[in-house]
Amino acid sequence: MATTDSSPRSVDCPPPPEGCAATAGEPCFSHGGTRERRLFHQVRTAAWQAARIAAVPAAKLVADAVAARKVRHGKHAAELLVEKGYMAEAERVRQAVSEQHGHMSGKQSVALLVEIAEAGGTR
Ligand SMILES: [Zn+2]
Repeated sequence: MATTDSSPRSVDCPPPPEGCAATAGEPCFSHGGTRERRLFHQVRTAAWQAARIAAVPAAKLVADAVAARKVRHGKHAAELLVEKGYMAEAERVRQAVSEQHGHMSGKQSVALLVEIAEAGGTR
């Protein structure tokens, strides 16, 4: 499962045909497992992103709301965070929305929350 290694390498690669079933810590392989790929399979990158989000409750909350199309804008993400009691996170999102003159999506809010948490931020 997830380690401190901050790359898709820290999670398992899903099985073929989308992935190569490499286990965490291994690179991705091609050509039936004989050749090391320089890049990670897209599904592995997606699995890693999902794991990063799942590790941060506030990010997961917003990500779920974005997936359900309940949140589209960073401003709405901040409102949802307040509603659920994530005051510090809401404040960081609000601040970012303001710094970017309102140009911040719900998805970008999720990425921001993950970055803050991984940097040892507000939680
Ligand atoms: Zn792979």
